[in-house]
Amino acid sequence: MSEGKKEASDVVPEATTTESLDRYRSSMEWESKFYRDTAALVERTADLQKVDRNVTHRLLTPQRALIVSIPVRMDDGSVKNFVGYRVQHNNARGPFKGGIRYHEEVSLGEVSALAMLMTFKCAVVGLPLGGAKGGIRIDPTPLSRAENQRLTRRYTTEILEMIGPELDIPAPDVGTNAQTMAWIMDTYSEMKGRVSPSVVTGKPIFLGGSQGRVEATGHGVAAVVRAAGEHLGFELFGKRVAIQGFGNVGTHAASKLESMGMKIVAVSDVSGGIYNPEGFDVKHLLKYVEIRKSVKDYPRAQPISNRDLLTLNVDVLVPAALSGVIDAEVAGQLKCRILAEGANGPVTAEGDEVLRQRQHEVFVVPDVLANAGGVTVSYFEWVQGLQSFFWDSKDVDERLFRILGNAFQEALSFKEKFQTDMRTATLMLGIHRVSEAMLARGLFP
Ligand code: GLU
Repeated sequence: MSEGKKEASDVVPEATTTESLDRYRSSMEWESKFYRDTAALVERTADLQKVDRNVTHRLLTPQRALIVSIPVRMDDGSVKNFVGYRVQHNNARGPFKGGIRYHEEVSLGEVSALAMLMTFKCAVVGLPLGGAKGGIRIDPTPLSRAENQRLTRRYTTEILEMIGPELDIPAPDVGTNAQTMAWIMDTYSEMKGRVSPSVVTGKPIFLGGSQGRVEATGHGVAAVVRAAGEHLGFELFGKRVAIQGFGNVGTHAASKLESMGMKIVAVSDVSGGIYNPEGFDVKHLLKYVEIRKSVKDYPRAQPISNRDLLTLNVDVLVPAALSGVIDAEVAGQLKCRILAEGANGPVTAEGDEVLRQRQHEVFVVPDVLANAGGVTVSYFEWVQGLQSFFWDSKDVDERLFRILGNAFQEALSFKEKFQTDMRTATLMLGIHRVSEAMLARGLFP
């Protein structure tokens, strides 16, 4: 075997050309706008840093994708069938890792794009893990607890051979939570005949979950906002924040940012948004949402649409809902100084193009860094579980802020070295780490 760089060409035959990649792309089973945008971003970024084309080619498709059909007996006695997925993108740096999403728009294209983002997210924060994602195309809100449990157990059975504590470790995502993870852990353990808490993360704390995991993604958003503020010499105290999406990520980001002295002036959920230029009392708002299940009609606030919230005149904007909400038009109208992407893929490729031109006005902390707090504490949970030794919440939060702060600095050094925008620089850091692992391991067989 030849030495060093030459091994790169062992990954796939030399014949890979742009032309063959184009043909390859148009026949992708996982085709979707989100996937196309994500793959194009990865390809452009890898080319900019001159990654071996053979490595890039491999990174543009998942390593494995499974589609399953899930029959579920409903409470009224009928049987309904749902479609589910588990996609494993890359495990060069360690076991696959990524959430499971229950949402009516889940598709193979979406799950594959999210799995790809997980690979780079784990690498950006330096975790020894790869990237995966799963999901079921279903709106879980009308399901009874019993129906949801049957759905989760059957889905787990269908993907059973793909997951495991050293193989692929699921976690919560949109529409799933600690209870979902408990059912997956139980189903896996029963089928394997041994208790395996480390097959999932995001479990309830009394079942081996980690302190701080529920809050982790939101706290991670706050950690990167703090790092960005310091970098820009921008005092955060008293500054205004708008948050789109008031679920797990949005609520915990709001609490943490408020504790840092910021004013949360607008939040929204699927029912629409609320705005108060004086700032909300987040604790009071959370109580209201707990009872009403929505921010709608919150007193002492004016209603605002989800779309208008994005273009409000605020200092920090946190899109913490679904993908694709910031297109070219919205990107052109953003007025925030810092955009911290709590959601995965909130900016479309066209929106990104506009933001690259506006990089001196809007400082972007991209999803693979801004929402990496969740998987970082998932990693802490996995490590604690394997050692059966648990940390307190202060330990977890301090380590989380340190890891995200360091990753932010490392992304910045790529930004300076390649004189590029923050999204490109952050992805460069991730791609660099994944590609060096792939090259060092070489091609099997
Ligand atoms: N679903 C979360 C994400 O998109 C967390 C994944 C994990 O903890 O494995 O990052």
